[in-house]
Amino acid sequence: MARIGFIGLGNMGAPMARNLAKAGHEVHGFDLSEAAMAAVESGGVRRAASGAEAARGADFVITMLPAGRHVRDAWLGDGGLAEASGNAIRIDCSTIDVATAREVASGARMLDAPVSGGTMGAENATLTFMVGGAEADFAAARPILEAMGKTIVHCGGPGAGQAAKLCNNMLLAISMIGTCEAFALAEKLGLSHEALFEVSSKSSGQCWSLTTYCPVPGPVPGSPANRGYTPGFATALMLKDLGLSQEAARESGAETPLGAAALALFERFASEGGAGRDFSGIIEMLRGRP
Ligand code: NAD
Repeated sequence: MARIGFIGLGNMGAPMARNLAKAGHEVHGFDLSEAAMAAVESGGVRRAASGAEAARGADFVITMLPAGRHVRDAWLGDGGLAEASGNAIRIDCSTIDVATAREVASGARMLDAPVSGGTMGAENATLTFMVGGAEADFAAARPILEAMGKTIVHCGGPGAGQAAKLCNNMLLAISMIGTCEAFALAEKLGLSHEALFEVSSKSSGQCWSLTTYCPVPGPVPGSPANRGYTPGFATALMLKDLGLSQEAARESGAETPLGAAALALFERFASEGGAGRDFSGIIEMLRGRP
């Protein structure tokens, strides 16, 4: 069993740290929020007085923080984790930009390992990890990631995990808008939801946004459309990921016109009250005038 420092015990980090403790690891946790610290203690996570204290003597140091600037500050700032972590393998599970992930990992045994699966996946230890970094570090970290997730994919060198996450979520945003537009057009043409689902789920329009996360109630009983678009995957989180994918596209010179259009549409949905709703709720905006 390993000694693990875990920094960032929010909606995702808290259940992830608890699952590591449940698997028998010695987990030393730290969060700037006292309430977040208190919430994990009953789950067997030990309280550290600072990020550096959590990291000292650890075999693995994990961060799960809001954005790139928090990750850079935590690792590279004064009294930061980089110094305290010594020879530990470093794992950042936050969703951040590729450039910061590479900067923070430079010269260190560090993996970028963003996740998908949301808070339910974090609670149930069924997250998908997309991992960038050296093969040997990935192999060493794999049992640790397996205590928090179900699907663990090594995507390549430093930054490749973040790249996979951004590309996948841009594709998801575009496919969801396409699925919503198809249902909205079907409604205008007098075609039932069930008929469109029956055809498209078995033919060339098939995609996850349709068959697992259907944006209209009925065809997929568990999808957020059946509960008034409560998340699920909140639009605010999708907006963050689309912002990162457009930033990466700009920096790398990739043409992503549909990614840009998806970002603009989700920004409008958020500004019209959709930020806290599931992202599939954008169908209500796309239906336009009755
Ligand atoms: P959150 O805001 O609930 O948690 C972040 C925590 O980090 C907070 O408790 C905050 O106090 C703490 N923190 C910030 N700076 C710190 C520092 N320097 N030292 C110690 N603690 C610090 O966010 P979350 O929902 O847990 O998301 C974390 C990351 O996971 C984000 O990058 C997010 O994009 C990504 N993510 C979230 C979801 C989701 O469904 N919530 C899904 C996939 C990925």
